[in-house]
Amino acid sequence: MKILNGKKIANDIKQEIANIVNTLEKDNKKKPHLAAILIGNNGASETYVNAKVKACEEVGFKSTLIRFNDNISEKDLLDKIKEVNKNDDVDGLIVQLPLPDHINEIKIKEAILPSKDVDGFHPENIGKMVLNLPTYLPATPAGILELFKRYNIDTSGKHCVVVGRSHIVGAPMSILMARNNVVGNCTVTLTHSRTVNLKEITKKADILIVALGKAEFITSEMIKEGVCIIDVGITRVKSDNTKSGWKLLGDVNFLDCSTKANLITPVPGGVGPMTIAMLLRNTLQSVTGDIY
Ligand code: NDP
Repeated sequence: MKILNGKKIANDIKQEIANIVNTLEKDNKKKPHLAAILIGNNGASETYVNAKVKACEEVGFKSTLIRFNDNISEKDLLDKIKEVNKNDDVDGLIVQLPLPDHINEIKIKEAILPSKDVDGFHPENIGKMVLNLPTYLPATPAGILELFKRYNIDTSGKHCVVVGRSHIVGAPMSILMARNNVVGNCTVTLTHSRTVNLKEITKKADILIVALGKAEFITSEMIKEGVCIIDVGITRVKSDNTKSGWKLLGDVNFLDCSTKANLITPVPGGVGPMTIAMLLRNTLQSVTGDIY
């Protein structure tokens, strides 16, 4: 069994990006600038946004964090997005999800200028993704594609089962794995909470991508010998064994499944760091125009 080390690959990518930023600076060109909007005080959202801002600093990007209380009106948020859209100094804009209930997520995604939508959530960019046209890919699925690429994992003709159909992970992942690309060409089964006999389906997977948000949901009885498992899930649970008092668990029971899997991503240190690396890559592309 081999562990797919997302942390190491993400660090390699960050170094590559930092080198390009150095070259941009030497050529007196603009540094990429990412703006992030964070609403409210959700602990997980704060952690994710802080990690994104820190990653920007590491590679030499400029970053701006725009914070609002969770009682901000939808109109005020839309006005702020319009303002950032018009600001030529900002190359990429992300709005951290989830949003408060009174704000319509689709309206917010549609308001971000597609050329600054480095999360790849705008319907125009999703349409381009489906059509296999150059665009910003959603960061988590893009990170998984990059892991396959950098570990030279042959996906062609494989049966890929995706668990979870969210707009940010499962649904785009299923589309990307079925596209006619070097990483892709899978026969894909997309499963969700209404799927009947999930275990019978996951057992047939050559590649199993799990994003449902239920800690250690996938166990060894649900997989076949030799499978490649990508665990997207992140659930915080209390722990007496860590300094912080909590630890992160994936959607896959790692110890149990690693006895049967051929390849597996850990949590933490698997998909999470790759997600941030791909957000940086998208932001870099918004400056260089080198979108693929
Ligand atoms: P969502 O809650 O948006 O979606 C969960 C999906 O799982 C839904 O499609 C749901 O089905 C499906 N589901 C729920 N229960 C079952 C079940 N028993 N059997 C089969 N399918 C089920 O989650 P996200 O996609 O946003 O996130 C999933 C996990 O990934 C979370 O732990 C999140 O924290 C993590 N995450 C990690 C990232 C990273 O960088 N590593 C990035 C983004 C998310 P239905 O549609 O029918 O409700």
